[in-house]
This record gives sequence, C-alpha cells and structure tokens, in this order.
Amino acid sequence: MDRRNFAKSIMITAIAGPQVIANPPRNRGNILESGEDIKGLPVREFDVVVAGGGTAGVMAAVASARQGAKTALIEAKGYPGGTVVEGGTALHSYFNLWKAFPGVEKRQVVKGLAQEIIDRLLLVGGTTGHADTTTRYNYDSVCTAIDTELYKLKAFEMLAESGVFICVNTLLAGAVKKGSRLEGVIAQSRLGREYFKAGCFVDCTAYGDLSAYSGADFIELNDHPVCNSMGIGNVEIEKLYDFLKVNNASGDIALGLRSGKESQIIRLGAEGTGSKNTLPEGFIDGIRQLGSGLITTTVHDNYLMFIKVNYKMDKSPTNRDEVAKAELIIRQNQYKTLELFKKYLPGCEKAFIARTSPSLNIRRGRTITCDYDISLEDVLEGRHFDDDIMAYGFHDEAPRLQIRNGGTYGVPYKALIVKNIENLLAAGMLITSNHSAHMSTRNTVCCMGQGQAAGTAAGLCAVKKYGTRELNYSDLRKKLEKDNVYIEG
Ligand SMILES: Cc1cc2nc3c(=O)[nH]c(=O)nc-3n(C[C@H](O)[C@H](O)[C@H](O)COP(=O)(O)OP(=O)(O)OC[C@H]3O[C@@H](n4cnc5c(N)ncnc54)[C@H](O)[C@@H]3O)c2cc1C
Repeated sequence: MDRRNFAKSIMITAIAGPQVIANPPRNRGNILESGEDIKGLPVREFDVVVAGGGTAGVMAAVASARQGAKTALIEAKGYPGGTVVEGGTALHSYFNLWKAFPGVEKRQVVKGLAQEIIDRLLLVGGTTGHADTTTRYNYDSVCTAIDTELYKLKAFEMLAESGVFICVNTLLAGAVKKGSRLEGVIAQSRLGREYFKAGCFVDCTAYGDLSAYSGADFIELNDHPVCNSMGIGNVEIEKLYDFLKVNNASGDIALGLRSGKESQIIRLGAEGTGSKNTLPEGFIDGIRQLGSGLITTTVHDNYLMFIKVNYKMDKSPTNRDEVAKAELIIRQNQYKTLELFKKYLPGCEKAFIARTSPSLNIRRGRTITCDYDISLEDVLEGRHFDDDIMAYGFHDEAPRLQIRNGGTYGVPYKALIVKNIENLLAAGMLITSNHSAHMSTRNTVCCMGQGQAAGTAAGLCAVKKYGTRELNYSDLRKKLEKDNVYIEG
C-alpha cells in the first residue's frame, strides 16, 4: 500500500400496491407506472419536491424555496445533513489548491449557500473556519471542519427559515410517471403513505432512489468501501500529536479555531510508512486489517470527530441483506479500532466512542445517467462549459491527480439533468460515472454547489412551468450569481 493510501486508510411497504413493479436484478426499487397505486392516498401539492435532505439536498431545498417555489424536502432520518455530518472529516474544498502550485493566487471558488452555512456555524462556534493546512499542501490547501451536531441544527434552521415544508423521518418510497414526465412521489412515514405532486423534482438521495424509481438509467459500480465513522472522546490531542511526531509519523496538520481558541490543531493525520517511521507495528497492522486509520478533524478539545472504519462489500450498498452484514462487521471493527487506540496511542488511553453514524455511509451507490457525464479530462484540464453552474478546484486523489495549474473546472447544468426525464434533476455523489472524476465531484463542497444550482433551477422551472431542458441558462446563471455563487468563464 502506498503512503497516501495508507494515510487515507489508516486515518484513519414498503409501499407495495398491486401494481408495483419491482426489479431486483437491476435493484430499481418501486416504480409505480400507473396512477392506480395512488388511489385513496392523501395528496399534497408542491412546485418542487427534493428527495434526500443531505449535503446537496439541504442546499437544493433552500435554494428552491428562496426562488418562491413551494418546496417539500423528504428526508429519511430525523435531521438534515446526510454524509456531511456522518462521513467526512474536512469539507473539501472552498478554495483552489493554491499551496500546491507556487505563485498561484488563493481564491475562494465555492461560495453561495455553502458559505452561508459556514457563516452561521462561525457564530455559534460550530466550525474551525477555513484553516490553512501546514503540511501536505499538495493534498489540500485549506481544511474546513464542522461541529456535526451544530451543522444539523443550522441546516434545519436554514430550511425552516426559507419556508421549506420539511418532512424528516419520511422515506421516499416510489414515483409515479406519465410518459417522460414525473408526476409525483410516494412518501412513507408514520402518517402512512402520502402522494406528493410537483412540477419539478430533485434527486439528492445519494443512492439515486428517486431516479431509479422514476425509471432513469443508472449503473452500480460498487467501486468503494462503505464506512461508519466514529467520534472518539476523552483524547489528549497534543499528546497524540507529539507521539506521532516523535515516531516520524505525523501526517496532515491544519491549525484553526478549536474550542474558541485560534491556531489549534484541527486536522491530524498519521503516515504509516517511511524508513524513519517507528509507529508500533501492532498498531499499523491492526488498523490496516480493520480498514481503519487515523486522519481526523476536530472542533473541540479532547475530541477526535471522525475515525473512519471502512469495509469493502462484495455487492452494491443498495443490497439490504449485504448491508445488514456489513453494519455488524463495521461496528465490531469500530470497537476493535478503539481498543488499538487505547493500547498504542498516548493521549487515547481513556478514549471512548462518543458517536457513530446511524447507518453505514457510502461513497457511491447508484450513478444516475444524466445528459452530460463529467469526464476525468474535464476535471484535470480545468474545462469550463457554456452552462457552468459552479466552479470547483479540489481532487481527492491529489497529488496524483490535480486540476491543472491549481485552477478550477466547471460543473455544467446538463450534468444535473437526468436523462430521458423531463422534470428531474440530480445533485450530489450520484452523478459522474468515471471513478477518478467522481473523486472530485463527490466531495462535500461540490455537492453543496450542485445542490444550490439544482434547487435554483427546479424552483425556476416549476414557477415558469418549464421542463428542465427549457430553462434559459442565462436566467439560471443570473439567479445563481445574485445568490453569491461563483461561476468562472
Ligand atoms: C466515509 C466518508 C468519508 C468522506 N470524507 C469526506 C471528506 O473528508 N471531505 C469531503 O469533502 N467529502 C468526503 N466524503 C464525500 C462526501 O461526504 C459525500 O460524497 C457527500 O457528502 C455526498 O452528499 P450527497 O448530498 O450526495 O449525499 P448525502 O449527504 O448522503 O445525502 C443523502 C440524503 O438522502 C437521504 N435519503 C437517502 N435515500 C432516501 C430515501 N429513499 N428517502 C428519503 N431520504 C433518503 C439520506 O438520509 C441522506 O440524508 C466522504 C464520504 C464518506 C462516505
């Protein structure tokens, strides 16, 4: 395993009515092709329905509602946030990778709603702010870490203040289509089944549930491990850092706001290889076997926010029964990881598991076929399109893969338009089929920007009664720029 991969790995009803068409081999879920299935269900009418209130979905719903569109958000969990509050350690990245390219200017390339939530978090001590990295510049120039609980709260408040009809604890369970037009979706909660009609829809479910239920084309690559990350409390961060340094194993470091104090370690990683590395072999071997590692961020003293524990499944994470097995194995491995930390890492002797994700996290599930598929060349060459909706400058495989000259590429609107469906957009980890291109577009901050653009477009389309392809790009761009989105080219 190379140095970087080690660093990454050690870082550490069912609504079944009689006409439901289930298609297990394609894992499509429930497609309700006919209106018969919704007979007798309570009907709610909206301009826009956003499915999935995660990283992209929160931004999509807020953006849509702020266009004046009557917007509903359907989220399976009891809170918004998704993988940004469960999977990642640092929000990559609001900036271009200027530190890796001497002479290149530092530029904030993602703003808009993605920045608004950071501004709200800053007011309540819920983020490190945009902290410069002090090592491994060629991976990222800035680390922006968040207090995940406060993020949930601030996201919730943004949705409520924007007038979104928020349905948490509600599962998107089916879709009704007429020809190429999506008419409505079935929501399942303890209120029972309801039918949500709308003019335009946005799929932000990460798994691509809405698109799959709507009959869109997709692939399931199963090209990543799944993960459950845990927060570890009762840790002496400086003591741990000193130990890593003494053992020539210190990796990522960024200094920022922690527990209200400036210039504190807020990102900490370990390198497991190198001739001078003297980390105990029992620790290195143990965490390799467990799929875990040590790269973490923190906003608070005595707390490591995310220790990832990965597990590679044989089948796609849309397979319920395989996921059930993985959920157990990962929880066992989390416990074993904690035991290794306590045994080998000074500063962690009294550590305990303070939080885990409610269910395993995926790096991708279904990839939905859209009108345009962003290629690796687009990303690396820093290409821009005549329908850009945002700019982005980070690649998760840096320094092996980087965007040319520390610049940005554009995410085009057509990459969010679900193929063969008139009124469905997609945003988040569910776009971009190429593995390495996806390693850029799937990152949190890119997903947020896509979400804002998809929500803005859906709001405009629904209010003007347009299909997604009829929307005038210059109208969309004007709105996005007015809402502080940075678009290049
Ligand atoms: C372990 C891990 C570590 C990562 N580390 C980083 C990192 O350090 N930095 C970084 O920038 N990125 C990181 N990423 C990537 C990034 O976090 C994700 O790609 C991104 O957050 C995905 O956003 P999304 O909106 O597509 O999905 P999500 O944020 O997962 O949102 C999907 C939402 O849809 C809901 N949902 C799903 N199905 C349904 C349904 N049928 N009905 C109702 N609701 C539904 C879910 O509950 C969820 O809230 C990491 C990802 C993982 C898994």
